[in-house]
Amino acid sequence: MNYDKKRLEIFNTYSENFLACSNIFDIQVGKIQGGKINIEKEFFYICPTCKGIHDENSLDLNFPNHLSLEHVPPKSMGGKATILTCKKCNNTSGSDLDIHLTRNLNIKRLTDGSGIPIDSILDLGFAKFKVDLKFDKQKTTWNFQHRNNPFLESKLSELQNSWDGLKFNVNISGGNPDRIILAHVRIAYLKLFEILGYPYIFTPSGQFIIKQIHSKKEVKNNTLVFKDPRISDKEGIHLVSDSNKNWFGVLVVYNLLDKKSGIREHFGVVLPGPFVENLEHFQNIQKTTIDINLKKLPMMNYLEEPKHIFNLFHSLNQNV
Ligand SMILES: [Zn+2]
Repeated sequence: MNYDKKRLEIFNTYSENFLACSNIFDIQVGKIQGGKINIEKEFFYICPTCKGIHDENSLDLNFPNHLSLEHVPPKSMGGKATILTCKKCNNTSGSDLDIHLTRNLNIKRLTDGSGIPIDSILDLGFAKFKVDLKFDKQKTTWNFQHRNNPFLESKLSELQNSWDGLKFNVNISGGNPDRIILAHVRIAYLKLFEILGYPYIFTPSGQFIIKQIHSKKEVKNNTLVFKDPRISDKEGIHLVSDSNKNWFGVLVVYNLLDKKSGIREHFGVVLPGPFVENLEHFQNIQKTTIDINLKKLPMMNYLEEPKHIFNLFHSLNQNV
């Protein structure tokens, strides 16, 4: 059995939180394969993105869909391993969503004047190669990323004297805009899970977000992603109200690191609060008209006491 310490620690913290929730809420989760679950006697970890239920055996790395460390934001963008997701979800998010975020950070180097190379594809007609493309004031240069490719080497020596007039295309992908938004929503949702644990994911708002993350469709206007200088010093989680002091959601602020350029950018994603009214309000709000007020999320042990987040939103909207 390979139960490394970090994963076991996270498993224990969140399975205790799940146990605390199951005493309060009527939680419907899928049944563990091959047997019934007994929430009161055993510890379970629920994958926050697919709600698959796992017992301690899923910490064994030999288990096909084991619980893996998830970096939030992705490791390649400077995130830390703070929670567990099932291997399936962890892998799919990388190939489905995070790749678009990476491309999006990458393409910004086109215009930022930093002169830092951009990952691109050089299409020479007979073959495509990965290149680092660099723009500066006088010229554009590229470097092949994999020079130890014998095919490339032989083609380059063939072409040695015939570069003049050679036609080529350079393809740079900035990522699919819908996938970029969903990648941000996923990061924010997992950041919120890290702090609040299970109570949120079983609310209608949590269900709504999970559905969005898995959706292959276009993202509608109801997801609010900000890239705004006003939030640059506000990393963490904030309560959000509209101009009528209706506290309807949370703003999750985090930064993404472009490792090549060393540039960090702040992003903020608004997610609906735990009640159905919060979700309804969130769905009716348009980004263009939103005039937000922020309040830092009070420091409480949300994992230990699942009721805190509900009491908080309840009291916020009672004091109006
Ligand atoms: Zn999963």
